[in-house]
Amino acid sequence: MTTPTIELKPSASPLSDAERAAILANPGFGRHFTDHMVVIKWTEGRGWHDGQLVPYAPLSLDPATMVLHYAQEIFEGLKAYRQPDGTVATFRPEKNAQRFQASARRLGMPELPVETFIEACDALVKQDEAWVPAHGGEESLYLRPFMIATEVGLGVKPANEYLFLVIASPAGAYFPGGVKPVSIWVSEDHVRAVPGGMGDAKTGGNYAASLLAQAEAAEQGCAQVCYLDAVERKWVEELGGMNLYFVYGNKIVTPTLTGSILEGVTRDSLLQVARDLGYEAEEGRVSVDQWQTDSANGTLTEVFACGTAAVITPVGTVKRTGAEWTQGAGEPGEVTVKLRQALLDIQRGTAEDQHGWMHKL
Ligand code: PMP
Repeated sequence: MTTPTIELKPSASPLSDAERAAILANPGFGRHFTDHMVVIKWTEGRGWHDGQLVPYAPLSLDPATMVLHYAQEIFEGLKAYRQPDGTVATFRPEKNAQRFQASARRLGMPELPVETFIEACDALVKQDEAWVPAHGGEESLYLRPFMIATEVGLGVKPANEYLFLVIASPAGAYFPGGVKPVSIWVSEDHVRAVPGGMGDAKTGGNYAASLLAQAEAAEQGCAQVCYLDAVERKWVEELGGMNLYFVYGNKIVTPTLTGSILEGVTRDSLLQVARDLGYEAEEGRVSVDQWQTDSANGTLTEVFACGTAAVITPVGTVKRTGAEWTQGAGEPGEVTVKLRQALLDIQRGTAEDQHGWMHKL
C-alpha cells in the first residue's frame, strides 16, 4: 500500500477576491468554507488511494452508508496562522495527525499515515492561501480533517471503505471584544465518557452525547459544561470541547489523562509553555469539592479552559447543584493572560518557536 500523492484539480470558478474579502471581514466560526477540499479514499485490500484536491462541494451518500447509522467517524481541528513575513504556518499538525491515528484505532478505522495527513492539510492551505486572514489579529484558518465509513449496508461492523477529507473555514477572533471569562455548569448527572469508552478519541459520538448536558447548562445560565469522571462523579475531567487548568499561585495543574479525557494539543503545549515561563506545571487529580473549597479559601487563584478554537478562555462563574462561585473577581487572571499571550505569540510568529512547533508551508 503506497502513500497517495494528492492530485490537484482546482476549481475553475473560485470566489472572487471581493466575495472572499467580504467573508474575511467578518468570518465568525465554521460558517464559511474555502474554495477547495481534499479527499482521499481507503478501500480494503487497496489502502489509501485517489488523493485529490477538488472544488468544495456536497457529498453524495447512499442512505444506507454506514457512517449515517453507526457513527463510525473521527475528526480533527487545527489552525493555520499568517506569519509576520506573509507566509503561512500550521501549529503542531503532527500532534493532530497522531491523535487522528489514535482515534482511528479506537473506532476500528484505518490509520492515515502522519505524513499524508500533513500533506493533505498543506495542499489545501497552499491552494486556498488567500483565505488565511492577515497577520496581526487573532484570526486564522481552521482546518477540519475528518474520516467517515462509506461502505453501504446495515450490518454493524468496521466498514471496508472510508473517505478522508479536509475542509477549511476562516475563523474570526474568538473574543472580538477582549477576552471574557466563560461560565461553567458542573454536570453531576450526565457524563461525557466512561472508562473503556471513547472519551480520548475525537469522534462525533462524544459530541452528540454532550448536547443534552449543554442544554442543561444553558438553562442554568452557563455557557459550557464541565464533566466529572463517570465512576465516582467526583474528579474533574474536562469541558465539552476544551481541557481545564487550575492555577495555584505559580503552579498550574491539569487533570491527568485517564482514557476518558481528550488529550488536547493546547493542553500539552501549555505544560511546556508554562515551564518555559518559569511556572510549575503538572498533571494531577482535582475534585469538584476541592475546586469549590480552594476557590473559597483563595489558594486556587485562577481557572482556565484551553483548546484550538479559543487558545485559552478564563473561567468566571462556576455552578453546581446547590453552589455557585466566581473565580478571581470574574476578570481574566494574570497567569491566564500571560500564558494565552505566550502561546498566541508562538502561533502568530512573533515569539521564538523554540520547540519547533510551527510547520511552515
Ligand atoms: N477536549 C475536547 C473534548 C475537545 O473537543 C477539544 C478540542 N479539540 C479539546 C479538549 C482541546 O483540544 P485541542 O487543544 O487539541 O484543540
